[in-house]
Amino acid sequence: MAVTRTFSIIKPDATRRNLTGAVTKMLEEAGLRVVASKRIHMTREQAEGFYAVHKERPFFGELVDFMISEPVVVQVLEGEDAVQKNRDVMGATNPADAAEGTIRKTHALSIGENSVHGSDSDENAAIEIRHFFNDDEIVG
Ligand code: ADP
Ligand code: MG
Repeated sequence: MAVTRTFSIIKPDATRRNLTGAVTKMLEEAGLRVVASKRIHMTREQAEGFYAVHKERPFFGELVDFMISEPVVVQVLEGEDAVQKNRDVMGATNPADAAEGTIRKTHALSIGENSVHGSDSDENAAIEIRHFFNDDEIVG
């Protein structure tokens, strides 16, 4: 299987509780390598653009407000089949449904405040990485 990249966000509920290291450790232990990382405080425009695909959903306003409420850590992760590997270690969107040992089961507070974002396809990973990183910020 090919080494690929995915895009991750450690969300405000996790940064607020000082879990950046704990979440990153779980990503690394799953076989993912952090090849870019920065802590940012997203603007409303950035969050709305990033989540534009969800703009018709009833939770869109709540999601944007949450994502700009505190700093986040945006990361590029690299590994074999990185998108799927990351989705596996993240766990289901709703922590109540997430498997034991996943990031969301371990750390998430609710379906909205669920600690991590991860791309859902190689195509979206490339788009999302470009949204937050220049090529010279990614050091594989
Ligand atoms: P995932 O992050 O697992 O890919 P989605 O892409 O479906 O999930 O949703 C994006 C984000 O929107 C979720 O991670 C979560 O923060 C938020 N969200 C999803 N569903 C709900 C919901 N029913 N109520 C509140 N927030 C939600
Ligand atoms: Mg998604």
